[in-house]
Amino acid sequence: MKVTVDLGLCQDHGQCAIAAPEVFAINDEGRLEYDSTPSDELLEFVEEAADVCPVQAILIADR
Ligand code: SF4
Repeated sequence: MKVTVDLGLCQDHGQCAIAAPEVFAINDEGRLEYDSTPSDELLEFVEEAADVCPVQAILIADR
């Protein structure tokens, strides 16, 4: 799948990193880093991350 985060919306709170830690992480500067092409096996976790993102900044494109 392809994952895009609108970094203009993202507020770096890291809820996505709790829901899908293999895909999203908050770096040492406190900013979001993410894998834009994670394995499709992680889809359910990425969907959960998109659901819990308070600003709906995570977009998932089809495989
Ligand atoms: S949950 Fe949303 S706002 Fe928070 S770090 Fe992740 S993408 Fe950014």
